[in-house]
Amino acid sequence: MAESKLTMEKIVNLCKNRGFVYPGSDIYGGFANTWDFGPVGVELKNNVKRSWWKRFVQESPNTYGVDAAILMNPRVWEASGHVQSFGDPKMDCKNCKQRFRADTLIEAHSKGAVAAEAMTNEQMEAYIAEHDIKCPHCGVRSWTPIRKFNPMFITSRGTLEAESDKVYLRPETCQGEYVNFLNVQRTSRAKVPFAIAQIGKSFRNEITPGNFLFRTVEFEQMELQMFCREEQSMDIYADYKAKALKYIEDLGLKAENLRFHDHDKLAHYAKAACDIQYNFPMGWQELNGIHHRGVWDLSRHQEYSGKSMLYIDPFTNEKYIPNVIEYSIGADRLTLALLCAAYEEQTLEDGDTRVVMHFHPAIAPYKVAVLPLQKNLSEKAKEVYGVLCKKFMCDYDEAGSIGKRYRRQDEIGTPFCVTVDFDTLNDNTVTVRDRDSMEQIRLNADELAAYIERLVEFN
Ligand code: ATP
Repeated sequence: MAESKLTMEKIVNLCKNRGFVYPGSDIYGGFANTWDFGPVGVELKNNVKRSWWKRFVQESPNTYGVDAAILMNPRVWEASGHVQSFGDPKMDCKNCKQRFRADTLIEAHSKGAVAAEAMTNEQMEAYIAEHDIKCPHCGVRSWTPIRKFNPMFITSRGTLEAESDKVYLRPETCQGEYVNFLNVQRTSRAKVPFAIAQIGKSFRNEITPGNFLFRTVEFEQMELQMFCREEQSMDIYADYKAKALKYIEDLGLKAENLRFHDHDKLAHYAKAACDIQYNFPMGWQELNGIHHRGVWDLSRHQEYSGKSMLYIDPFTNEKYIPNVIEYSIGADRLTLALLCAAYEEQTLEDGDTRVVMHFHPAIAPYKVAVLPLQKNLSEKAKEVYGVLCKKFMCDYDEAGSIGKRYRRQDEIGTPFCVTVDFDTLNDNTVTVRDRDSMEQIRLNADELAAYIERLVEFN
């Protein structure tokens, strides 16, 4: 079996052709850096989100879920600092008028070896001049000075112009957790340490979107805020670093393609921060972040809302504002990493080739495909499908040779193919083919659901 080099182009092509992801507004020629998940992709991403929720909410007794509104009181974004100081260091090319982020230009030029986040604007400008970093679009070096660009999308609310109020599309989900700290604590009788988790859309008018799903202007975040005492906060931070790594390894990302990147430069309120980076086809890039945010967020909301964010310890009656440990991972970015990790081109022993997506069965779009060997077996095959589709996402295909149908399922990562043949009519047994080993076993159709159920769990 031979492997060839993975490129983003191969992933994008497979995604477009097999129904994972299409360009947004495709029939209008697309809409830059927006993507629509197709029938197979929506299952994949939903399964990724389910796996995260299972691990970090369902199996974490002190974690409570919320689903907060995207549009929030604009005061929230004043309290969070986004209105005043959220911003990326942008530079414009004076020659072709394209806009870039100075830090990403440096990181791309140094292939990830230089952490530009630790640099001041002056240091970044000096680095770009010294290393003669040219515009990736036109090849000329003629930059404006670095300026801050606020990537929040602004819209307005109200039916009359006079009533209209500036509102923001949230650039991060975590504010929905902070503003519900008191509500969740009270209604769930939660005791510190406890976490609030959420999965939802965020919007950023990114200066340099691109690399397919990696950086888009609209994306989903899966994240939680753990509220804790200061004395326990560094242990909890370390604990989330380990849990975050284990989660993505369990989903199928290989240890050699993952690394921690501790931040050199911290926000003034932060006590520690790190990313986990993945070795994408375009190089090492952030996959998720774990941040120790001190008491900054709750203190700011206390100041701006006038509501006390003090937690009263039920045992000691001590009053304090809890520290926050944040763990945040992009659902789309993780889905992209999983697509890259799953992709394999194999040359088989008979000289044939196949593309196979080795997804963890728990995230595979379809768990099983039912394939009648011949069309005149479709009645029995549909009966088998009818039982299985009550339990799992299940595909049914009777078009083309059995070999071609196996290949189609391999390309969308279906872990099991069930073939109904003439023996099935006599003894109710079917063939079950394993996607990765291509080995086949014979099973009674009545045992299929239980057999597959066991193998597609995420633990
Ligand atoms: P980056 O440095 O890549 O811009 P960030 O440090 O701004 O990311 P956070 O604000 O910490 O990212 O967001 C947490 C996670 O959300 C990121 O680790 C990433 O997985 C995801 N994410 C952030 N911005 C985007 C985006 N524009 N498109 C897709 N996913 C994103």
